[in-house]
Amino acid sequence: MLDQILRNNKKLKVSKSKRGPWKIESSSTAKNTRNFIREIIENIKVEPNPDKPLISLTIGDPTVYGNLKASNETIEAVIRAAEQGAHNGYAPAVGYHNAREAVADYLSQDGAEYSFQDIILCSGCSSSLEMCITVLADPLKGQNILVPRPGFPIYRTLAESIGVKVKYYNLIPEKDWEIDLEHLESLIDDNTAALILNNPSNPCGSVYSEYHLRRILEVAYNYQIPVIADEIYDRIVFPGNKFVSVASLNSRVPTLVCGGLAKRFLVPGWRVGWVAIHDQMGAFDCEVRQGLVKLSQRTIGCNTLIQGALPCILKNSPQNFFDNLIDTLMSNAKICFDILETAQGIIPYKPQGTMYMMVEIELEKFPEFDDGLKFGQKLVEEESVFCLPGECFEIPGFMRLVLTIPQELMEEACERIVDFCNRHYLF
Ligand SMILES: *Cc1c(COP(=O)(O)O)cnc(C)c1O
Repeated sequence: MLDQILRNNKKLKVSKSKRGPWKIESSSTAKNTRNFIREIIENIKVEPNPDKPLISLTIGDPTVYGNLKASNETIEAVIRAAEQGAHNGYAPAVGYHNAREAVADYLSQDGAEYSFQDIILCSGCSSSLEMCITVLADPLKGQNILVPRPGFPIYRTLAESIGVKVKYYNLIPEKDWEIDLEHLESLIDDNTAALILNNPSNPCGSVYSEYHLRRILEVAYNYQIPVIADEIYDRIVFPGNKFVSVASLNSRVPTLVCGGLAKRFLVPGWRVGWVAIHDQMGAFDCEVRQGLVKLSQRTIGCNTLIQGALPCILKNSPQNFFDNLIDTLMSNAKICFDILETAQGIIPYKPQGTMYMMVEIELEKFPEFDDGLKFGQKLVEEESVFCLPGECFEIPGFMRLVLTIPQELMEEACERIVDFCNRHYLF
């Protein structure tokens, strides 16, 4: 039998030009896939000051320092799911019925109404975003999507890897990072397939009011542009602010809401996310719902063990777990703001939620540094404090700090930043 196959194969003619050393090209999808944060970070020489321990304020992973832990209820739910042994096989690509129902109930608390049929489980919120962009935007038609600047770079990564263009709409720092609606409107053309809205925002830490959301939706409605709402920071808002899911406004704009467990439940590595379809007018009924189901079948969805635990995770996590998270983030935000405010040449922006704070660098006051990247590099070299430069989010002249680290380290990092600024500031 094997002989036969080999003999038959011999008959295959291989063209001469194919001989020689193997060299396999990658696809254009692979070539067009870029990690913008890595590209920028790799160009910064990171050599911390050996006399000071490194404090990294770069990655948005709340578990890094061990001070923020998943709730016991969350951990126990997964242990129980594993012990039951009922979640080891394939689930439907869109997720188990009861897990989808649990997500529908969880999201319905934000004021919109969902049934299990509106929910598709995904491998992390990144995967939800990928499905939404892929289902709505068609590279063969030269379509584009609108994304925030500053904003999370994954939107561009996902769009450009499949050949969809991105257009950046500006956020206004002085107005708590609200969208410049006139600018947004000016970008819309016949090829605009979707508007990505990130609220609460990474990197800005902003939380939009109902009024502002309604005005954004008005633009989307007037031009018939569906919304992809990245709400991965749902309910991570500080007292005095209110999280409003864009779906709860029942605007008649067809909307795909993306979310997941990563941030609020402090388990980013578990890779659980979802798409929630909110579509009062039935605009997605003819194709998009089905399209999402088909796309989910490419990789057969989300980790089944965590799906098995999902109903308990979403229902049993106690309020004081969420309150503690908010307390930690808010008190770190206050510490950061109060300390950084005393520095020369930088302007901290108070966040209203999330895990981040943006800081503006008045570069003209630091003429020895050509740009924000150099500023960041020197900050690492001299003070061993590492922040992500605004370039990672398409906003040079800023840096982003994470607020998830233990309080003593947060204070220490901010004090070092102040020393650094005051040392280099040109009076
Ligand atoms: C962290 C983050 C995500 C990705 O979430 P995963 O579930 O880890 O894939 C998506 N959007 C924003 C704005 C984020 O900060």
